[in-house]
Amino acid sequence: MSCIFCDIVAGSEKAEILVDDEKVLAFLDIRPFNYGHSLVIPKNHYENFSEVTEEDLFPMIKSVQEISKAIKSSLNADGFNVLSNNGAAAGQTIYHCHFHIIPRFTSDGFKFKMNLKEYSEDEMKEVAVKIKKYL
Ligand code: AMP
Ligand code: ZN
Repeated sequence: MSCIFCDIVAGSEKAEILVDDEKVLAFLDIRPFNYGHSLVIPKNHYENFSEVTEEDLFPMIKSVQEISKAIKSSLNADGFNVLSNNGAAAGQTIYHCHFHIIPRFTSDGFKFKMNLKEYSEDEMKEVAVKIKKYL
């Protein structure tokens, strides 16, 4: 099965690479929300975040933090978003685990917080109980 991010790791697909470590690759997203929008991936192929092994998880998250700080400082960003889309319902289009780091500017006008719901107190408890059964 072909995977564009595995091709970038292999070097057969071009990318503007920021970090090339033993376990992690980071490169600029070709369709950025803002310039500097980057992607951090484990070099090993995992379809999504849930699949990543413990061995690859920490290097990836560590790299996400390092690159976030570098992006914010170098581009004088006011903040940044870190996000990972998992599954089609969440907007995932490339099925190789990746984290987006998006530099944010006070004036950029993006609104990530849309359609927020409200809980009644009972509902909130019920949802927490459901989740905790799996933890
Ligand atoms: P997602 O929708 O979360 O799966 O994100 C996939 C991201 O990969 C999108 O933001 C794309 O713009 C980006 N993308 C797709 N192909 C490439 C590529 N060849 N190089 C860099 N970024 C890419
Ligand atoms: Zn892959």
